[in-house]
Amino acid sequence: MSDNYVKVQVELMKSLGEVGEKEGVDTEEQVPMSPPSADPPIITISGRDASNTSITCKQRGKSRGRLLKDDKNSSGKNVPDLSLHGSGVSAHAGKNLNRLGQERTLHMTGTGKILQGKSENNGNYVTNHPSQNIQEVSREEALKLARKRRPVTVDTAKAKTSLEALKISIKQLKWKEFPLGRRAPCDIYWHGVSFHDNENIVSGQVNKFPGMIEMLRKINMSRAMRTMQELFPDEYDFYPRSWILPEEYQQFSTQIRMVKEKDATLNPTFIVKPDGGSQGDGIYLIRDPSELKVMAGSQAKQFVVQEYIHKPLLIDKLKFDIRLYVLIKSMEPLEIYIAKEGLTRFCTEPYQEPSQKNLTHVFMHLTNYSLNVHSGNFVHSDSQNTGSKRTLSSVLYRLAAKGVDIKRVWSDIIALVIKTVIAVVPELKVYYQADIPPGKPGPTCFQILGFDILLMKNLKPVLLEVNSNPSMRIEHEQEISPGVFEYVPSPVDEEVKVGVIRDTLRLMDPFLKKPSISQPRSGGTEHTEEIPMEAETQDRSPDEGSLPSLCLKQVYPKYTKQFNYLRLVERTAALFIRFLGVKGNMRLGPTAFRTFIRTCKLSNSNFTMASVDILYIDITRRWSGAAPDSREAGMGLQAFVEAFFILAGRRFKSLPLREQIVTLLELCEAQLEAQSSVEDRRSVSCSRMHTRAVKSQTLGHTTTNPQLSSPAPLRRAASQDYRLHQKLKPRALRANVEN
Ligand code: ADP
Repeated sequence: MSDNYVKVQVELMKSLGEVGEKEGVDTEEQVPMSPPSADPPIITISGRDASNTSITCKQRGKSRGRLLKDDKNSSGKNVPDLSLHGSGVSAHAGKNLNRLGQERTLHMTGTGKILQGKSENNGNYVTNHPSQNIQEVSREEALKLARKRRPVTVDTAKAKTSLEALKISIKQLKWKEFPLGRRAPCDIYWHGVSFHDNENIVSGQVNKFPGMIEMLRKINMSRAMRTMQELFPDEYDFYPRSWILPEEYQQFSTQIRMVKEKDATLNPTFIVKPDGGSQGDGIYLIRDPSELKVMAGSQAKQFVVQEYIHKPLLIDKLKFDIRLYVLIKSMEPLEIYIAKEGLTRFCTEPYQEPSQKNLTHVFMHLTNYSLNVHSGNFVHSDSQNTGSKRTLSSVLYRLAAKGVDIKRVWSDIIALVIKTVIAVVPELKVYYQADIPPGKPGPTCFQILGFDILLMKNLKPVLLEVNSNPSMRIEHEQEISPGVFEYVPSPVDEEVKVGVIRDTLRLMDPFLKKPSISQPRSGGTEHTEEIPMEAETQDRSPDEGSLPSLCLKQVYPKYTKQFNYLRLVERTAALFIRFLGVKGNMRLGPTAFRTFIRTCKLSNSNFTMASVDILYIDITRRWSGAAPDSREAGMGLQAFVEAFFILAGRRFKSLPLREQIVTLLELCEAQLEAQSSVEDRRSVSCSRMHTRAVKSQTLGHTTTNPQLSSPAPLRRAASQDYRLHQKLKPRALRANVEN
């Protein structure tokens, strides 16, 4: 890191009153905890026999299925302010601006430095442009201008069940809502379901990434996690062992038989989940492969069978899970925020370890709100620390009071979130470039995800699933008379969810992307620096004065150093994307695969081009069987990753798997580097610029460090990260997160 760079960063921090809070300066993790408050009386729906409820709830659930279609969970209440560490708000240039390739000039008051940049994709690449003159505008003037600025515009026409929470958030921010959409472009588009809720958006920001729904379906997610488990078994042991059925039925039954043969006292339980299912629909427990309800022929549905966590942590003898809200603010570079407040959803029947007798007791084993709300034992409460839905902070407080090391739990949760996002990002990038190819006008994206996490009895967090559309509903269902339900406001939901939406909007504020205002001055030659623009939200706009501090906490890039080495599949995906060729493609054809092999010089006398073709056909055929519904022919990313693993295994037989992959990646990247340098000298092509950009992101660096902006040091840095981590023990990594 250049001295200049460090100096400018520190000066920037000072000018923003934020000295001492930056990456590399470790701070204590704040654990979200809230003490019990003076609770209002608990409202309990009672008078129904829980045993018949299990029968009636299914019918009710069905009739309400439509109402709750994109609604998964709910509830919670906010906690006293928890100071936000590292809640830096990165500045970005708007995408429409970036797409036009316009340069952006930023002046940091007090630093005497002038910044200028250009951004791509998520508006996140900031590159230097020397020889520009800029007129400094003082901080006060900037604030005055900010006061006069036009309000941020939000298109809420497609917000669906998040509408209520969104409206409240917009009002609190004094922004402008367009409930019926708007002819002119809006700054932000809020979609209730998917990126494609509203087609033809060419600018601004959309609250969904293309491909997120597909990526987070149970099967896809399990595949992505499995790849990471192969590469990093210790780091990814927070995801239960899973099998994809029907295709892996043989492996599943053989493995279970072997386990039982080895130790007859073992009688593991498995949970069966239909792919694409939600709210506990179609889920059941089994103890033997023969109990699988596999349908034949055209009715054969795909599903995931997962090791059942049979020793969960209990509170009040009840199983519960955590709903954590996570914001992916940007994918390039990767920026992840975690909401300090979340929800916990409780079962409504005391937990017992699974036995043949209780396997069908959904209120004992499944924590889904949508199921348990129909149990006679469900406790509606406006309090954050009682009832069947509570705030995460109240649960953590309770555990802390019992002597649990909450800090460790919280840092384990942060690690789980970062690792999970790292696992899904490679494929998301493939979707992203297919929907918004570089050079095509389009919006940038961000997304709030709902992580469902179970704490084991030994306090280890386990990832159950990630929801691309976590419920943002701020009402809950209540039975006002027998069989008659209606939605009533839920203060707990409102506090948690409005906080998450409002603070997401604050972080995505397009005006925040230009924290200082500057104008070019003609004829100057001032030296420029790249700076990761970080500003406390409170510093930027007087409107924010009345708002609480941000409930979203940045965890990435804050913890880049600890987790960057895990991004190997992302580097593989960068190669894949480079050779995809035609814009909008998601699969590699045989010719493109050959080109990849040739360009990276991977064939030789032991591995001829004929063998390359056989490998391609072999893998592609197998994967097309695994994803029968896929419309496009060719090799998808997951198949390419498998091919890459095979190539690495052939070439570097003596090395362990991870080393094989790293070494092959380095080799391919070096070949492409050399080729790019030759091309560079010939001409500057747009497509190549993009590829290099993709590559630099996957190496896990923003081009904020001038030293790292050259590809070779970038590559070295990523590999050094990896090698460094080989020397670190897992416990040391955790300690880094804690501090
Ligand atoms: P859905 O999307 O249908 O809600 P989930 O994967 O979230 O599916 O599972 C539903 C519920 O089942 C979870 O909320 C949790 O209570 C329970 N559950 C899921 N997976 C496991 C597991 N591996 N071990 C123990 N309980 C699980």
